[in-house]
Amino acid sequence: MKELVTADEMRQSSRAERCAGHRIGLVPTLGFLHEGHLSLIRAARAENDVVVLSVFVNPTQFGPGEDFDAYPRDLDRDRMLARDNGVDALFVPTVEEMYPDGASRQLWLDPGKLANSLCGASRPGHFRGVATVVAKLLNIVQADSAYFGQKDGQQAVIVSRMARELAFPSEIRVLPTIREPDGLALSSRNAFLRPGEREQAPTLHRVLLEACRNIEAGERNVQTLERGMRTGIERAAPLARIDDVTIADLLWLQPIIGALGSDAILAIAAFFGSTRLIDNVQVRFRDGKPEFS
Ligand code: AMP
Repeated sequence: MKELVTADEMRQSSRAERCAGHRIGLVPTLGFLHEGHLSLIRAARAENDVVVLSVFVNPTQFGPGEDFDAYPRDLDRDRMLARDNGVDALFVPTVEEMYPDGASRQLWLDPGKLANSLCGASRPGHFRGVATVVAKLLNIVQADSAYFGQKDGQQAVIVSRMARELAFPSEIRVLPTIREPDGLALSSRNAFLRPGEREQAPTLHRVLLEACRNIEAGERNVQTLERGMRTGIERAAPLARIDDVTIADLLWLQPIIGALGSDAILAIAAFFGSTRLIDNVQVRFRDGKPEFS
């Protein structure tokens, strides 16, 4: 496995692979790898000749007072897991490498109203930072495909739209959320949960499943469904502080008012202590019948 630090080295390596006719798959991450990340690496491995894993804790997607400094990091372990799971090139740029103009940088990729709702409502600037860094990584790596998890549902929608609307040459692949046996979505931030919080955290997934069952049973009133999810969390997870419970349309990510009738995302964000967890399910209607993922 190669390890590359500069954008130039990474670009040269990709250029050589592409000249050799190889297909490149990119898995962008913040590191501190877990099974969720590894599922993306394995998919990239199965679908490409060359797998590039980027590990970069991107400062521009963290707001003031968020956990940029405290974000868990363990590059030695990430390196080992990457090698064991068939990564060919590990790209670990520095902040200076990714943002050479520092605070004087001017240009951002702005996802517009896609970034204002759901997680974006309480994290202003977050998705602008995400879209900008993903665009930069795709430009540097020149990947044929890039792999993202549905776990970060709003991010996956924004990155897919960015690639389509700006005609990026990379195909964006979105893969299912990997969970603990009790349903908790794997996340690097789970490491921060105290035992009592860890016990209650799977509630987020449980209330999403219950909302799906209610939709299956015919409930279409969005406010009733959202209220049900909130009450479910308040009852079963008193340690949770709800940040957001929203059902939004999958195209524009805008909250749905009234009746659920087209493809939607049911999204939850909640704090356990200072740890912010997110989860979501998507519902798509085929001939009026809901299908969940
Ligand atoms: P992160 O390092 O948290 O930014 O995640 C890097 C990529 O892994 C993103 O595309 C995430 O959506 C994805 N990911 C994170 N957690 C999971 C999970 N539990 N299942 C599937 N993908 C995940």
